[in-house]
Amino acid sequence: MSGNVAFIGLGNMGAPMAANLIAAGYTLTVFDRVEAAMADAVEQGARKADSAVDAVAEAEIVFTMLPAGAHVRGLYLGENDAGDGILAAAGDDTLLIDCSTIDAETARLVAGKAAERGLTMLDAPVSGGVNGAKAGGLTFMVGGESAGLERARPLLDVMGKAVFHAGEAGAGQVGKMCNNMLLGILMTGTSEAINLAVANGLDPTVISEIMKNASGGNWALNVYNPYPGVMDTAPASNGYKPGFGVDLMLKDLGLAMDSSLKNGVSTPLGSMARSLYSMHSRAGSGGRDFSSILELLHGQAAD
Ligand code: NAD
Repeated sequence: MSGNVAFIGLGNMGAPMAANLIAAGYTLTVFDRVEAAMADAVEQGARKADSAVDAVAEAEIVFTMLPAGAHVRGLYLGENDAGDGILAAAGDDTLLIDCSTIDAETARLVAGKAAERGLTMLDAPVSGGVNGAKAGGLTFMVGGESAGLERARPLLDVMGKAVFHAGEAGAGQVGKMCNNMLLGILMTGTSEAINLAVANGLDPTVISEIMKNASGGNWALNVYNPYPGVMDTAPASNGYKPGFGVDLMLKDLGLAMDSSLKNGVSTPLGSMARSLYSMHSRAGSGGRDFSSILELLHGQAAD
């Protein structure tokens, strides 16, 4: 077991991921720019660092779980690439693992800078949502060198149920981008279908069970039903508290659209999903769970 692990970014996903590492016996040093985000980890026995640079000083393995590419680039390379980020502060044999969902270009850029310092960096975005993170049931999609992945694997196995090596640096992010474009499409389509059934007098639980066990079955129906009251554990039954925020889904669909333009690939459904999430965000729902797209389709305004 590796002794010292730094975990930076303890939001909806990072906090339960860190909690599982602590519960498995790893020694964690944590940092989040929001003080309150570190409370649970500290209560579990983690050391609270004064800064990200302080957090990585003694770490053998560093995990980061931040919102978007700009945060990751700023944290690793310093603001405006000043060179005073955690990359410069890490020890000579530190393994760097970024689990955030970001664009593959930024992932490759930061991994390249790490390699210039002789450090291995993996992009290891995850799927499974907050409940998957809490249950240690995430799926990791990893880009980077096999040797780095093998070093990381025992820790990834604590936090996840499946680990895929997608390819070289950035490949994990490509896998995640494609998965989340499909998720955005599926959540929108699932919401559309349930709304139509309810408008026709069906009980939302009944139509959900039907589709779950028929050819429309999908992840949203299985573990993340968007209709309030159908599934106790889903954000829809908790006032659409995230979970996975609308603005994070909008970011991910934006990554897919940028890539479709760059690569000349048609993604009409992804484009439609992005437009819907953009409208939903602009109407005031950016901070709500992404399954609240059901309310946009239903013609309901944000709270
Ligand atoms: P979040 O906004 O809840 O948490 C992000 C955390 O990072 C916050 O606590 C924030 O304070 C912290 N942070 C930002 N910049 C920082 C910095 N420079 N230094 C230290 N801390 C910093 O987001 P989340 O839902 O936990 O998602 C994190 C990433 O995981 C995103 O890229 C998201 O797309 C991805 N993701 C989320 C889910 C989900 O269901 N929420 C699922 C899979 C992947």
